[in-house]
Amino acid sequence: MKIIVAGREIDTQHFINNQRIGSATTFAAHSAITEEKLGDIARGTQTEVDLAVAAATAAFPAWAALGAKGRLPYLERLAHVIESRVEDLAAVETMNNGSLLEASRLRVMKRGAHNIHFFAQMALEMGSSWDTEAAKNAVNNVRYDPAGVTALITPWNAPFMLATWKVGPALAAGNTVVLKPAEWTPFTASLLADMVLDAGLPAGVFNVVQGIGAEAGAALVAHPDVKRISFTGSVPTAKKIALSAAQNLTPVSFELGGKSPFIVCADADFELALVNALDQYDNCGQVCLSGTRLLIEESIYDRFLSEFKTRAAKLKQGDPREADTIVGPLVTRTHLERVHGFVQRAVSAGAKLEFGGQVSPQLGGLYYQPTLFTNLPDGAEILSSEVFGPVLTMQKFSSEQELISLANNTEYGLAAMLFTKDAIKAERISSQLVAGTVWTNCFYVRDLSAPFGGSRASGIGREGGHWSFDFYCDIKNTVQRKGTFS
Ligand code: NAD
Repeated sequence: MKIIVAGREIDTQHFINNQRIGSATTFAAHSAITEEKLGDIARGTQTEVDLAVAAATAAFPAWAALGAKGRLPYLERLAHVIESRVEDLAAVETMNNGSLLEASRLRVMKRGAHNIHFFAQMALEMGSSWDTEAAKNAVNNVRYDPAGVTALITPWNAPFMLATWKVGPALAAGNTVVLKPAEWTPFTASLLADMVLDAGLPAGVFNVVQGIGAEAGAALVAHPDVKRISFTGSVPTAKKIALSAAQNLTPVSFELGGKSPFIVCADADFELALVNALDQYDNCGQVCLSGTRLLIEESIYDRFLSEFKTRAAKLKQGDPREADTIVGPLVTRTHLERVHGFVQRAVSAGAKLEFGGQVSPQLGGLYYQPTLFTNLPDGAEILSSEVFGPVLTMQKFSSEQELISLANNTEYGLAAMLFTKDAIKAERISSQLVAGTVWTNCFYVRDLSAPFGGSRASGIGREGGHWSFDFYCDIKNTVQRKGTFS
């Protein structure tokens, strides 16, 4: 079952035990750019999930036994193959979910390769031994043992990058993988399977089951042979997965939604803050980390609002394949209707629509205009629910106390952005914000060795650096009494 997307051939079946396998039924995936159907994809069921988990279970002992050093050449080859196919990955993903082609070619897909390379290298460094005060006469040898079959479930907004962010550490740690990509964006996971073949990974180490979340996804997370579930997606889905995982006591790592504050203090570099605030429309707002609630200090609020409106009007919206496009389309019509529902309810609640609030009259399709609300009524839905579209709110604050209270007034805690030139103030405010990451005077700076994740409803656990290995491994302490070995 092969189709052509953006000029590239894609096999739309599952990838199990290094073989392509179909299903009795299919589902359709579409283009965000044109809304046309791109192809039919194998619709996985319990049967294919069982096959994939069995393949991953069978492949696990030999893959684990290779050790980090033995796995390194495979994973380095995989990283190189990904690097060599950055153009293909970017073209296919842009055609599918409408993300900006240039950003994808120049950064996002390269990060996919780096995700594999980084964790393969880091796995070599894991494991250590040391004496502790409590055990002067013994040595604690801490081992990071692979856990087994991992179920990796990914969303549609950055499908390839987020898949590799999980696949990298899971494989480097010695686990095997069953990946279930989002049904709206199935294609780059299939290309990843081609690359796994090219890199020569043993059969069963990496598997893809395509399908609908409530079917293939639900069957995968309920499988008793799955030893870890890493999920990136929405809060309602996470709650379902948690219930399922509880039946087998399967550990979960959840990276969920956000409603992050973007804070500009009066002493901030105004231009830097403005440019970064406009960046919150990146990927048409379909970014979990987006600082969707702009909180501006009262003394600069009017100027900031006025400049923001002027500059937002100049953001070029259009075809994501054109190099000068800044804002592309939303991913599907279903999602557009969801986004527009939030906008309509905000208007009905009395919020002031400063600009946007509709599909671009010139472009039509899924090109929803960058949108801004001010004069927000207390308790408005738009201030607390994740829209996941190009919809921002702007509020003013007049004291640090008021700022902290506004910033933390959501169920989420994924990220926060803070703009100030005062280092002491930055530290003081950061320490009071509920967020997995606080960026000061920057946005989106990601270091793979640093922890990433969310607090409260934004997630459970952290991945990145050794935190990834803490999750994907069974950590074992072997305690050996000193002087007892000949
Ligand atoms: P979603 O929860 O609808 O779907 C995510 C994945 O879960 C898909 O692969 C889907 O098929 C699968 N799924 C759905 N129901 C399932 C079930 N019952 N059992 C198992 N799997 C199931 O989320 P989405 O709409 O694809 O993604 C958008 C959400 O993802 C937003 O909330 C966004 O903030 C979040 N997100 C978070 C991060 C992060 O790092 N924190 C990154 C990107 C996106």
